[in-house]
Amino acid sequence: MDCIFCKIIAGTIPSAKAYEDDQTYAFADIDPKAPVHLLIVPKKHIPSLAEADAGDTAVLGHLHAVARKLATEHNLSAGYRTVINTGPDGGQTVSHLHVHLLGGRQMHWPPG
Ligand code: AMP
Ligand code: ZN
Repeated sequence: MDCIFCKIIAGTIPSAKAYEDDQTYAFADIDPKAPVHLLIVPKKHIPSLAEADAGDTAVLGHLHAVARKLATEHNLSAGYRTVINTGPDGGQTVSHLHVHLLGGRQMHWPPG
């Protein structure tokens, strides 16, 4: 499958790994938008949140539990932001579901 994040999970494209378990893989974003910018992805290829099905509910929760764990490990006690961009209007550029974990600076609202 021609999916950059599946290749990162498989190790055929290098990444700076932050966490891995049987369901998820986390790594540094190559173009960080904050001092801490990690991506947490399911090992299963789910193209987007819009295409997740009822059987994916547990992994959707687990991705967020991993984000919380990584936020603690990266000392984001002042807060952080988790983001899932979905589809063209959502600004999604990689068609493999991922949670952005951003922290280490003040975030603003609304996002662009
Ligand atoms: P999105 O725009 O929500 O689909 O986010 C995709 C993210 O993947 C962007 O923040 C990119 O910087 C990031 N990205 C793209 N290619 C790589 C890569 N090879 N390694 C790490 N992050 C990547
Ligand atoms: Zn994929």
